[in-house]
Amino acid sequence: MKKDEQKSYRCVVCGEKFSDRDVRLYNFFRVQKTCCACYTSGKAKDHRDWCFGKLNRLNEEGRIVRWGYDPVEHSECREECPDRSICPLFLTRVDKKTGKRYTKIGRARKRARDRDSSGAD
Ligand SMILES: [Zn+2]
Repeated sequence: MKKDEQKSYRCVVCGEKFSDRDVRLYNFFRVQKTCCACYTSGKAKDHRDWCFGKLNRLNEEGRIVRWGYDPVEHSECREECPDRSICPLFLTRVDKKTGKRYTKIGRARKRARDRDSSGAD
């Protein structure tokens, strides 16, 4: 088995396992530990139930002590997601040299596909 095919990541929501290839194809978000399918279904839910993998924190009585989406407590919600449209944090990377943020899902998908079909690594 190629190292790449080892499914070493697990989605914290559905429990499915994912490989490095899934990460490159954006089927799995490593930082958020959430797969694309769960992310997509979560995006359709009310932000009081879900916000892009940040689930509400409940106490023993099941009462919410911290919202998953909280533009007051979480600066990233305030800055990146004020209208709760698709969260750019999932889609952007930071260029280490310039510090600029960029989105290139399309190119990354194509690169990963090309690499997989050519068999080279
Ligand atoms: Zn999942």
